[in-house]
Amino acid sequence: MGLAGLPGWYVGGALGAAVAALLAVCIYALVLAWRVDRFDRWLSAPSLRLDPPWQGVWREMSLRVQRMLKQQEKLAAVHEKRLQDFLLAIQASPNGVILLDGEARIEWCNDTAAAHLGLDAVKDRMQHVVHLVRDPVFARYFSQSDHASEAVIEGRSSSAVSSQKLSVQLHAYGEGRSLLLTRDITAVAQAEAMRRDFVANVSHEIRTPLTVLSGFVETLQTLPLDQQERIRYLDLMAVQSQRMQDLVADLLTLSQLEGSLPPGMSQQVLLPELMSQIESDARALSSLMAGLDATQTQEIIFDPSPDWALLGSRSELQSAVSNLVSNAVRYTPLGGKIHARWWRQSDSCIFAVTDTGPGIAPEHLPRLSERFYRVDRSRSRETGGTGLGLAITKHVAQRHGGELRIESQVGQGSTFMLVLPMSRCVVANAPVEA
Ligand code: ADP
Repeated sequence: MGLAGLPGWYVGGALGAAVAALLAVCIYALVLAWRVDRFDRWLSAPSLRLDPPWQGVWREMSLRVQRMLKQQEKLAAVHEKRLQDFLLAIQASPNGVILLDGEARIEWCNDTAAAHLGLDAVKDRMQHVVHLVRDPVFARYFSQSDHASEAVIEGRSSSAVSSQKLSVQLHAYGEGRSLLLTRDITAVAQAEAMRRDFVANVSHEIRTPLTVLSGFVETLQTLPLDQQERIRYLDLMAVQSQRMQDLVADLLTLSQLEGSLPPGMSQQVLLPELMSQIESDARALSSLMAGLDATQTQEIIFDPSPDWALLGSRSELQSAVSNLVSNAVRYTPLGGKIHARWWRQSDSCIFAVTDTGPGIAPEHLPRLSERFYRVDRSRSRETGGTGLGLAITKHVAQRHGGELRIESQVGQGSTFMLVLPMSRCVVANAPVEA
């Protein structure tokens, strides 16, 4: 630019030289501004042109910037891929996960959380979670400062007939952010409720005969009874202690059934042998119920047992069949009829016992095999029922690959069936696989 002053000096002396130099600086500044502007437009274009359209130092600078930007783009793509992988992993979680910002607005949630809490994973982004989950327990939990333990709320799919229980817990992370985890604990809650009911039922069942027993003990200790009265009281006490023994025996059977592997196919249980034992027990029970001077008795018919063998556990099968038969005897009034038989049908072999007892209303049928579920509580107790017989039979049937079927009509009587798969039923003494 100093050179630009020389012709100015020559033409106009010192002033000319200064004007010429100023002019040169202005022109240079304009060119520079134009180049910077062109460079800036090149940089801010949506996609960089691969080959910068100029030469020299500008080209060198552009290429460097281009390389740096490409590196950053690659890095961003790697980070983006990693983020997507993380989100996919969280998406696959069986639990619900919600990421909340510092204002408790939903930044992201997986499909499980959306289903649990009735959210829309896309539309509900950046919405305040407490405005969407309208459960007072949740709102209270959210507003408290301590989230060390979880809260249990009703799930979105709860209805009048079935309830879904969700565990929710907040975990703080980052700067003011938090993670809301949801877990479906319906099965756990149900198991816990069943356990509580079971313990309460067992305690109740044991307490009743115990109370009676201790009452009799006190009477024997305090009252001067004659021999006959003493014998009567002792008989009544024997009945109560038998009741407790039966209950404990059934409880042990149930716990054995639950805690052991299903029976194999190696043991043959001969049907005629099994059934003759069960038949004589049934007749003994029936005459016990009729009493010594009964004018009416039950008619008990056992069809001749086929010459089959059942493959499975003898004690379990005996207990399952005799529970059904003894129920028929216990619930059928004197003068009624009980008919027991085995037959084969397509791919099953079936034991059925039909009685002319009171029958069972349809609403009770699905619950009959629940532990301690009784339709006729007093009849069950009077006849020494534990309330566990059908639960045991159903368990045994399932462990042998079969099922318990019940058909009944009030006032007409009932038929209880133990249905076993044909593979469990062979011709007696046929060789069986180990
Ligand atoms: P329980 O020891 O009380 O008989 P179960 O589990 O064997 O217990 O049976 C459950 C309930 O089913 C009984 O209390 C009774 O109300 C009903 N039940 C079972 N068998 C019969 C039957 N043959 N006829 C009518 N009701 C029956």
